[in-house]
Amino acid sequence: MKTNWSNVIKDSLSQVGENLKLTQECQYLNQGFADAINRYKRETAHWYDEKGTKENPFSSVTQNLWYQHYLNKKRLNSRKIGIHYEYMRPTSFPKEENQRLPFFSYAHDGKHMLCTVKDSVSYKKVWYRNRQILWAEEPKNKEGHYYLMQSKSPAGGYICPNCANPGTLESLTDGCDYCGTKFHLEDFQEKVSCFYLPETPTQTKNRNPINYIVIPLFFFMMGLFIMNVLQARGISLLSGWIILIIGLLLIAAVMEIINLKNGASRTTVTKHKLRQSDPFFSEEYFVGNLTNKLASIHYAGHPEEVSPFALCDLSNYIEACRDVVECRLTSYLLKDFFTDERWQHLKVQTTLTLKRDIDQQIRAERRKLNLHLIRGKNLFTSASNSAIVYTCKGCGASISLLNGGKCQYCGKQLELQYYDWVILEYECK
Ligand SMILES: [Zn+2]
Ligand SMILES: [Zn+2]
Repeated sequence: MKTNWSNVIKDSLSQVGENLKLTQECQYLNQGFADAINRYKRETAHWYDEKGTKENPFSSVTQNLWYQHYLNKKRLNSRKIGIHYEYMRPTSFPKEENQRLPFFSYAHDGKHMLCTVKDSVSYKKVWYRNRQILWAEEPKNKEGHYYLMQSKSPAGGYICPNCANPGTLESLTDGCDYCGTKFHLEDFQEKVSCFYLPETPTQTKNRNPINYIVIPLFFFMMGLFIMNVLQARGISLLSGWIILIIGLLLIAAVMEIINLKNGASRTTVTKHKLRQSDPFFSEEYFVGNLTNKLASIHYAGHPEEVSPFALCDLSNYIEACRDVVECRLTSYLLKDFFTDERWQHLKVQTTLTLKRDIDQQIRAERRKLNLHLIRGKNLFTSASNSAIVYTCKGCGASISLLNGGKCQYCGKQLELQYYDWVILEYECK
């Protein structure tokens, strides 16, 4: 792997710079996005309290996020489990005095304004069966991320979610002047595409506080020892310090190489490669979208329900997930990106936290999945048109995921790989 570091850094910096500028200019949109988050919270609580599984009662979410809630509820119903939110603190905007959060940042992917809202999250979520509590989760002031989107140009005007042609709200709901697609008024509202609650390292590893004392102490003692040896050999204190610093830098370099293989900088390099073919690639949108697809796969009652998301056979995996009642993505690594004549390939490693209903109890479990994703070579915008509806390439009708992605009118199967990332291979650890 040849990496031109100056390009990677330049690219990352210019991206950060552009987004900072957009973030500064777009603060006037905060209220709308905060309202959408609160609408989402209310709709989620309501969805799990209601008995049935009506078609989309959410006005605040993208199709993919709604679909995973839909499948989750079906799974819960089949296992006679209910979910209830005892409370869910709303996102308060305007910010309360002396509060850092919520923090709004913006990016644009060519068709949508993408908004990331970091907020401290507090709620109590209870899983129950026959009035008996199976599990309760109560994060308090944990930092979570909401990924949202809205079809808008960077300047704030309305654009067609399908072809990005600018228009007025009236003209677009009438049928885009350029591509003819008709939209509903709510297609232009702010939509939540994902809620991401990253697992903090302190939560995953039971870190012993002794580590914070022992490790620095060890290095300090080593330093003293080396200084002593050097002084005994008649080397001056100054060169002793220089040798010590060089030694520490070497350790840091080795750590960085390890990190490059498995850590955050690997993601940065992969993102740089991706942006060379897709300048608007949004990591947040991608992760949100992947989270929803993975959750849907874990909740699916039948392989057909998620057939648009994968080209490989998932039936064995789905069979082994019948007892999963919650699936959350808690960390990820973008491992590699490359293209061939037909496809773009992306390799991703994800860590999922699952809750399984085993022997009348809920058990938490972590699982690593290595995924190989592909999408058509000429697809650029990560958000494509999955936010709103998938349109049939055969007859132009809109396709719902509800009937396995098959067009109701002409029977053509939705080939999602020509719109969006789909799973080509997976490996479960
Ligand atoms: Zn259009
Ligand atoms: Zn059709």
